[in-house]
Amino acid sequence: MLGIIAKSLGTGVLTEADPFGGRASFGFPVVDFSRCTACGECAQSCPSGAIQAATPTEGCKTLSLSYAACIQCRACVTACPEKAIGVSDGVEVAAYTREQLAQTASFTVDPETGRATFSQDAVHHGPGLAESAFRLRDRIRGRLGRSLHVRQVDAGSCNGCELEIAATANPLYDLERFGIHLVASPRHADVLLVTGPVTRNMEIALRRTYDAAPEPRVVVAVGTCGCSGGIFGEGTYAAIGGVDRVLPVDVYIPGCPPRPQAILNGLLVAMGVREARILPSREQ
Ligand code: SF4
Ligand code: SF4
Repeated sequence: MLGIIAKSLGTGVLTEADPFGGRASFGFPVVDFSRCTACGECAQSCPSGAIQAATPTEGCKTLSLSYAACIQCRACVTACPEKAIGVSDGVEVAAYTREQLAQTASFTVDPETGRATFSQDAVHHGPGLAESAFRLRDRIRGRLGRSLHVRQVDAGSCNGCELEIAATANPLYDLERFGIHLVASPRHADVLLVTGPVTRNMEIALRRTYDAAPEPRVVVAVGTCGCSGGIFGEGTYAAIGGVDRVLPVDVYIPGCPPRPQAILNGLLVAMGVREARILPSREQ
């Protein structure tokens, strides 16, 4: 035994250091429109179509960015010749609609030089996201009077989102201490956490799972694929696309995959939806 220990100490560390050690977790791209010239290089480099460049009328260009479709690959960051795209540290992004995850900027094109200059943008901000996990616990206990039961449904994901959902239950994030439980049956669920682009093979199973969950059920689309189909797109031979192509989605949590704190945050937003649905019936 002592020989083995001595050999191990002599061997030292053989694994490689984390190349991203010390760096903040990957967030979403943020465009500095004042530097942007609407050249469209980022849109061409984007593998998921999250960035779209267009020329709707002569003398006008638009650039739109949707976090619902972004896989956080950063290709646009390196493609931008103006260095107008950075990456946010924030990963806690959730919204009630796909539109809230999108922004569109308009540019005026100089007819002589052809250079585009930013004129205005339209951003539809999602709900406030700064609430802490302890507030989440209080909301669950205080408003519902009991715990929140969550059923996870994989409708065709790569399992990246499942790994992050599983991580919410590890000792670091410890989902259960806030009164949130992952359950084995949709019949016990308040919330359905649905991942993946909905594959055609999973459509019926997903609909039946939804039908089996008692009202008022809340549907949360998790991950970029769940929000928009992601790199698999929508209406292909294998995939229908985002969860909202099959079920009414109440909350969208983008990210590829969304980190555990983003999923916890999305559950907080989902709580708001659920409260809104059950309180009127309680008051009757
Ligand atoms: S990070 Fe990747 S997926 Fe997201 S907008 Fe940029 S190029 Fe597209
Ligand atoms: S963000 Fe950069 S790459 Fe994209 S349109 Fe603007 S200048 Fe071009």
